[in-house]
Amino acid sequence: MVIILKNITKKFRGTTAVKGLSVEIREGELVCLLGPSGCGKSTTLSMIAGLELPTEGDIFFDGKRVNQVEAEDRDIGMVFQNYALYPHMTVRQNIEFPLRMRHMAKAQREEKIREVARMMQIEELLNRRPGQLSGGQQQRVAIGRALVKQPKILLLDEPFSNLDARLRIELRDEIRSLQKQLGITTIFVTHDQEEAMSISDRILLMKEGVMQQYSSPKDMYTHPANRFTAGFLGNPPINFLPCRIAEEKLMVRDCGQGCMELPGEKCVRGQAGLTEEQTVMEAGIRPEDIYVADGPEHSDFEGKVIAVQTLGKEIYLKVETCGNRLTACVSWDHNYGIGDVIYLAVKKIYLFPEKGETECDGKAGE
Ligand code: ATP
Repeated sequence: MVIILKNITKKFRGTTAVKGLSVEIREGELVCLLGPSGCGKSTTLSMIAGLELPTEGDIFFDGKRVNQVEAEDRDIGMVFQNYALYPHMTVRQNIEFPLRMRHMAKAQREEKIREVARMMQIEELLNRRPGQLSGGQQQRVAIGRALVKQPKILLLDEPFSNLDARLRIELRDEIRSLQKQLGITTIFVTHDQEEAMSISDRILLMKEGVMQQYSSPKDMYTHPANRFTAGFLGNPPINFLPCRIAEEKLMVRDCGQGCMELPGEKCVRGQAGLTEEQTVMEAGIRPEDIYVADGPEHSDFEGKVIAVQTLGKEIYLKVETCGNRLTACVSWDHNYGIGDVIYLAVKKIYLFPEKGETECDGKAGE
């Protein structure tokens, strides 16, 4: 099923939850709606589900306008954060419920339940009630119940946020492979950038009801459309430094002592709405794009280590340089201590107009 949102706006009294959203979700694609709390993710999902009506704009499923189609007639399976299982019913009855609503014959119902139970690995839980299941098991049942009707679209609203970190990773990998296997067009709401990065074909990043970027995880990470996108994706987050161009050199502003020059030839310019004329800007450097150089002659600047965080496979160094603090992500075999002065070099610098955020025009990236 291809889903098209055309210039969708949703206003509640006093709040515009979604503003002029236009996107196309391709057949069989998994798209994550990502963004901070209150940015309009759930409202967008609810409009696609038919639980909320857009104030303006149109929604199309396979070319057919569905604005006036009731939720139950949209051929959608939904999974929520709180499982929403019927507590008085067994797992079997929970999964069977949507089939009964469709007046499916008993033998066929049995077959469908068996099939879904096998797929979700919950065969041995069928006679239990939700209260006798762990959170992860309940969520498997909820997904099974959503899939048993063989819907054309699967909508998931923060489905794993009640689960512990390890289980989240396990279930998100499972849902991803299941989704690919079934080829079902899926929209997944999350505020967790790592979750979105790891499962999406494309991410739709929102802020205050406005789409910021719509592209593949890799494209969004390596070609952020604006400062917000660059800052939202990445852990530890990107470093921002206030800069200006002076005599064709990229200089850090407000350095305190002295002046610090950044290697202008490593800049990515223009993609984030920065014109050639602008001389005052912000430079974004990802922690993994900073490395420890062999010596001063190979470095871009020097810095003093002010904190060291060891994570096993890598080390985060907090470095003070010319009045600014930066985080660098270096490999585990470095052995630096607080107070060490080190030589650093950068691989890539993103340039953004200062604090200004260009809004995405809704075109899909690759
Ligand atoms: P979260 O991650 O916290 O769930 P979200 O991105 O899903 O947030 P929405 O729930 O879509 O955000 O809400 C977007 C905005 O619309 C918020 O400012 C919210 O307060 C407002 N809003 C949502 N539903 C209603 C409603 N029924 N009445 C009034 N305002 C609403």
